[in-house]
Amino acid sequence: MRKISNILLNCWFPRICSACNRSLSVREEGLCFYCKQYLHKTNHFVRKNNTLYIQLAYRMSLHSVQSLYFFQPKSIEQRAIHELKYKKNMQIGNFFGKEMGKRLLKTPWLRDVDLLVPIPLHRNKELERGYNQSRVLCEGISEETRLPIATVLKKQNAGKGATKGNRMERMNSRKIDFQIDSKIPSNVNHILIVDDVITTGATLESAFQVLRKEFQGKISVVSIAHTF
Ligand SMILES: [Zn+2]
Repeated sequence: MRKISNILLNCWFPRICSACNRSLSVREEGLCFYCKQYLHKTNHFVRKNNTLYIQLAYRMSLHSVQSLYFFQPKSIEQRAIHELKYKKNMQIGNFFGKEMGKRLLKTPWLRDVDLLVPIPLHRNKELERGYNQSRVLCEGISEETRLPIATVLKKQNAGKGATKGNRMERMNSRKIDFQIDSKIPSNVNHILIVDDVITTGATLESAFQVLRKEFQGKISVVSIAHTF
């Protein structure tokens, strides 16, 4: 089944580098070897107490946070993420997901992760795009690790209740974008939230708060890139 989906993926998408459009050799995937060397890699998978973790730790009690890359303007990672989010290029999402999965297996504090949770999109946005890019990343991780994926979170309608209540109530209702969509299995001890890019951390914080109400185990985060 997995092989068939890979074959279909390759049929839908020509095997070209997602950053420079060069044809990929059989040994290359997602990006060509040339572009890969210009990615701004982080040390997050070898250093638990990394800069991103330190910046987010005072806002939420995460077990760990790691991005594959530092997001730089006009970089290879920016072009590749643009392809994933706006050009319907699922192949590059699958590549990043598999990269995450490979790192996960080698990272001691992530070895006990037992559930992958994608950051959801608004339903309309997902219909327009045809897929949720975080889910595509989860599928890539799962290909490497065999971990299950659960759409535990659901994004609430934008502007729901926006005209009701006073200013403070409206601000609070806007802050929490997510709600629980399906129950977290009782045997889960370590959830990995999967996101594409961490910018302000606000999305993550909302997702974390909603999950934390239902789940007292470890919560970690992985993303392709972060901007701060
Ligand atoms: Zn390239």
